[in-house]
Amino acid sequence: MNYATIKWTDIANGEGVRISLFVSGCTHRCKNCFNQIAWDFDYGMAFDEPTQEKILKELGSGFIAGLSLLGGEPLEPQNQRALYPFVKKVKESYPNKTIWCYTGFVFDEKTGDLRAKDKNTEITKELISLFDVLIDGPYVEELKDIRLKFRGSSNQRVIDVQKTLKSKNCELYLE
Ligand code: SF4
Repeated sequence: MNYATIKWTDIANGEGVRISLFVSGCTHRCKNCFNQIAWDFDYGMAFDEPTQEKILKELGSGFIAGLSLLGGEPLEPQNQRALYPFVKKVKESYPNKTIWCYTGFVFDEKTGDLRAKDKNTEITKELISLFDVLIDGPYVEELKDIRLKFRGSSNQRVIDVQKTLKSKNCELYLE
């Protein structure tokens, strides 16, 4: 997997000061996407061992609230497979820090994976179960609302993943 950029002190993509990883590769092609350059899976740099180690180290800073995954599309099948071992390591190393993920796919609260069945892999459920918050759904220009917190259009949901997995109903983290 490649990544487009890393923001080391980001306050726009989740609560608190966060490290945000923008992965490369996205097949959604949303109209007026904010990050079209990252549609290409080969864009940017390799998400290699030194990069992963640096993120893990920086997450240890007291003022960092957690990790946010964006794109591109973190939940494209090949990106899921690349992210899963890393996200698992983050959760094991920092159980009290939060993991937020932005996806253009729609989460299926009944099954715990994605409604786009062909995008589910052998580790989709496990990967999503490591998240605290999932912002789901494509960016829809016609539903754009700049008053919304942490999302661009009103179709997108800010989901409390842990509560949702327990109840199998969509529990929103933010209305
Ligand atoms: S899912 Fe995100 S990165 Fe992909 S096209 Fe839509 S807005 Fe752009």
